Amino acid sequence: LADRLQETMKKLTGKGKVSEQDVKEMTREVRLALLEADVNFKVVKDFVKRVKERAIGQEVMESLTPGQQVIKVVKEELTDLMGGEQSKIAVSDRSPTVIMMVGLQGAGKTTTTGKLANLLRKKHNRKPLLVAADIYRPAAINQLETIGRQLDIPVFAMGTDANPVDIANQAIAKAKEDHHDYVIIDTAGRLHVDENLMDELQQIKTNVKPDEVFLVVDAMTGQDAVNVAESFDEQLDISGVVLTKLDGDTRGGAALSIKAVTNKPIKFAGMGEKLDELEQFHPERMASRILGMGDVLSLIEKAQENVDEKKMKDLESKMRSASFTFDDFLDQMAQVKNMGPLEDLLGMIPGANKMKGLKNVQLDEKQLVHVEAIIQSMTKKERQDPNLMNASRKKRIAKGSGRPVSEVNRLLKQFDEMKKMMKQMTNSQSGKKGKKGKG
Ligand code: GDP
Ligand code: MG
Repeated sequence: LADRLQETMKKLTGKGKVSEQDVKEMTREVRLALLEADVNFKVVKDFVKRVKERAIGQEVMESLTPGQQVIKVVKEELTDLMGGEQSKIAVSDRSPTVIMMVGLQGAGKTTTTGKLANLLRKKHNRKPLLVAADIYRPAAINQLETIGRQLDIPVFAMGTDANPVDIANQAIAKAKEDHHDYVIIDTAGRLHVDENLMDELQQIKTNVKPDEVFLVVDAMTGQDAVNVAESFDEQLDISGVVLTKLDGDTRGGAALSIKAVTNKPIKFAGMGEKLDELEQFHPERMASRILGMGDVLSLIEKAQENVDEKKMKDLESKMRSASFTFDDFLDQMAQVKNMGPLEDLLGMIPGANKMKGLKNVQLDEKQLVHVEAIIQSMTKKERQDPNLMNASRKKRIAKGSGRPVSEVNRLLKQFDEMKKMMKQMTNSQSGKKGKKGKG
């Protein structure tokens, strides 16, 4: 999905200031990208409007890193559109819990029936019973029985002459007898939505009163999947959606529109033909995939995960009061290291974008390890008050850290310069350039 969108996002990431024009440009790209990903037109329109409002609002303009903030807004809105955090499977207070699988032929109902049973057993320690209620093709019953054997999960079947409602009812009675706590009913599908199919499914639903009606849709079918979801939901009031074949080359536009159009959650995603390839649906991951900018997003994610905001604030205020110690330095390094490549990260440290000089303080990864070793060889007191340092202390630290005394000296000097720089920076809020540190 659109290299152009990625380009726009990249451009924005580095921006210290975002103008309304930038936002307009960006939302135009997002709009195109979503349409290209087969997202419903009306959904796109609403979406773009919301992003624009938030992006032009204070939330973005007044943040430290507005470019990233815009991208964050886009991602959050996308995630939201797909239903936010996915919900769990219902548990009935009368055992067994009954799940009815519906969908068009070839969508993946039978396979997903097996996958779901497998997941329920493995993850939730449940004892499911599978029910073959697709009586139109003998092969369908065989298929489910084969899956049952593979998983060693029992399958209830009555052949092709029985009525699906009877099959479902008897299966539930059998499940009670054998102490199954879940019953998953695999129903018939058709190539297209038709009245006969809906009648049959409605009958099963009315009689069985399932706790969940899961619609299985093929993600590869794009916009069609959305129409299918809409009609199934209208007629059967589904409780959730399973999106299959997401392992294929799909953009996932369907995922976006389905939630928006039916307002039913996407609960699971089929990621392959194998019976363990069913995952909880993660709207966030889907959002990243749709935006096709995993790297940019993961950087933002990393920053959010690993930078303890409160700690950063503390550090900042320490910088301001110039009471920054080697311990604080260690803390800061730990946070920075959590996040990966340093160049990308300096910009995220509050105030660091104002401290141009910081870029010249050489902070490559290997050196960080050495610096850490040196600081760790200092005593508590030394870390708080570097003025204590004398020749014998330096020698001891050098020995303890396995680094030459010259390096200890250099670190002390750099630290001193850094403190001066901080003082300067905080004294002149206008953001005067700091003094250059040495490499
Ligand atoms: P049903 O007609 O709705 O019961 O569909 P089936 O369960 O028989 O699946 C139809 C085809 O889709 C089979 O070949 C499955 O192996 C395949 N399939 C189902 N789910 C997935 C999935 O998540 N990924 C992939 N790649 N194939 C799937
Ligand atoms: Mg089937």
